[in-house]
Amino acid sequence: MIRRHLLATSGALLAAPALIAAASAQPAPAPAAPAQAPGFYRFRVGSFIATTVWDGFAPRQNPGTGWIVNADRAAVEGALRDAMLSTARLDNPFIVTFLETPAGLTMFDSGTGGQLAPTAGRMRENLAAAGIDPARVTRILVSHFHGDHITGLTTAENAAVFPNAQVFVPEVEWAFWADSSNSGRVPEFQRGTFANTARRFGPYQGKIERFAAGAEILPGVRAVAAYGHTPGHTVFHVADGTDQLFVTADTSSRPEVFLRNPGWASIFDIDGAAATASRIAIFGRIAAERARMTAYHFPFPANGFIQTMGDGFRFVPADWTNAI
Ligand SMILES: [Zn+2]
Repeated sequence: MIRRHLLATSGALLAAPALIAAASAQPAPAPAAPAQAPGFYRFRVGSFIATTVWDGFAPRQNPGTGWIVNADRAAVEGALRDAMLSTARLDNPFIVTFLETPAGLTMFDSGTGGQLAPTAGRMRENLAAAGIDPARVTRILVSHFHGDHITGLTTAENAAVFPNAQVFVPEVEWAFWADSSNSGRVPEFQRGTFANTARRFGPYQGKIERFAAGAEILPGVRAVAAYGHTPGHTVFHVADGTDQLFVTADTSSRPEVFLRNPGWASIFDIDGAAATASRIAIFGRIAAERARMTAYHFPFPANGFIQTMGDGFRFVPADWTNAI
């Protein structure tokens, strides 16, 4: 019995190479297209829960030229190289902050709505992955009216994406962009912002609230003027108990460039001197208070802390953890 069994086994083994040869003649199934992990991240601010959500990015070619208005190419490319970033192409991320409080779900700026760059517009699928239904957003707090911050308010057909939301806008920002007679005060490439303002806020008519600098917009959330990037650019300060979060919007674009060099201004800053003064004041306050912050154009998940370093600042990403 034993001998027959051995023979049968070795017979099977002898046959195996032929089977393998036959199998390898068939093309192996192609691997599934690689997909990235869902882009959302959660953390607590006191009893509130903040979520940052990835909308995507837009690449900028040759960032050493035509971007920073008061530094030369060698300096800008040096800053990029110091941060292990390419001098040929810099990706500008778009990251939206959400905040759950007893007053409801608040969203800070809107993402691109998939209408600005083919590599952006992922917010909707990432919201689904995060279990956030756009219909649950009750308040949208807008930092400023550049297209990457307001275009996602509406679809390509200009229907409201957040049908149950009230929209809160800085009154200074509103006054500027709602009046097209100001168009001579901005560079030509930014003049589309006037029409885009009318278009994107149109479907929310009757649900728009203008707030003043310093206003408490909902319990625990206050507007802080950070003018310069645009005339009414605003940061939001969140506090619950001793915990704080600053939603810093465009106080700085990529930190590797503007925190190391807080005096640099970009072509997107409508008043470069005011923008850099606001940046130094806001990040100085965040550093001094050891407060947490999020930003719209920082590396995902775009939350962490600010330290002073040399003549500028550095961004210290918060620890990633599964414990919320
Ligand atoms: Zn922006």
